[in-house]
Amino acid sequence: SEAIIQINQLKKYFPVKDQSLFAKSSKVVKAVDDVSFEVRRGETLGIVGESGCGKSTLARLVMQLIRPTEGSVILNGQDLAKLSDKEMKKARKSIQMIFQNPYASLDPRKTVEQLIMEPLVIHQVGTHQERVKKVKELLAVVGLSDYHATRYPHEFSGGQRQRINIARALALNPEVVICDESVSALDVSIQAQVINLLKELQASFNLTYIFISHDLNVVRYISDRIAVMYLGRVVEMGTYEEIYHNAQHPYTRALLSAVPKESPLVKKERVILTGDVPSPMNPPSGCHFHKRCPYATDRCQTEAPALTLYEEQHMVSCHLLGNLS
Ligand code: SF4
Ligand code: MG
Repeated sequence: SEAIIQINQLKKYFPVKDQSLFAKSSKVVKAVDDVSFEVRRGETLGIVGESGCGKSTLARLVMQLIRPTEGSVILNGQDLAKLSDKEMKKARKSIQMIFQNPYASLDPRKTVEQLIMEPLVIHQVGTHQERVKKVKELLAVVGLSDYHATRYPHEFSGGQRQRINIARALALNPEVVICDESVSALDVSIQAQVINLLKELQASFNLTYIFISHDLNVVRYISDRIAVMYLGRVVEMGTYEEIYHNAQHPYTRALLSAVPKESPLVKKERVILTGDVPSPMNPPSGCHFHKRCPYATDRCQTEAPALTLYEEQHMVSCHLLGNLS
């Protein structure tokens, strides 16, 4: 299907103060470093990587919460950086986000009704009566009831709070919903419930999801395609099948081998990642992964591999492309 979002050579560099005494130049963190891909209408694109890999920065760029250093985000064929104020208002409605922490992301002084209604009030959608009606519909859609409307967030469990967040995110009838670690703080059984709800809602409302997680085990239940990020770059991208059954990047393999042993997905020996996650402030030269990669050669220390088509629907950034044993 057609692309709803296109991300072209997107970069976000943050200047940072050099802490050393005699520093003359300021440094930059390359949080997102030349990332390109498309998100197709109606799909779920999983974005996976360890903390600091740039996935949340990427989400904030797509949300237009921050401006790119370079590159563009195209929504429905329109470059978001070139929109008029009016067009931008519309674009803002069509991309919504569900944040990570269900305990911190809801204002404790507001009722559920006020919380879900808030986006409608901010965007001046409907009369008060229409908003009240919409809140009722949204509560039903996420598996809560009218009875909950007058309650406060502290009266709800983590899973229920995430349902409230989902209702809030759907209030403006978005086309795209970005889930940034949306189930990570929940118990495994509750994670499954929320993921199933997200799938149902996707089918009902033809939603497109960008589903961000540090955990490949979580994204596998929902993703059609997956992008694996490492230090600001996409190192592998492909369909669910290709990533889970034919991963070609050593980093993806290592992440997959960290999936619990009882999983039928793990056929290979467990690969333990050695070394800390390098800092995005001072990434290794060449292939960013070379200090932790069991296959690294001299070439990897100096030359960065390009993201290359390996098979249809499968891109890999590794000098060993296709020759990994
Ligand atoms: Fe490992 Fe080299 Fe491939 Fe990077 S390019 S993942 S260091 S083998
Ligand atoms: Mg994050």
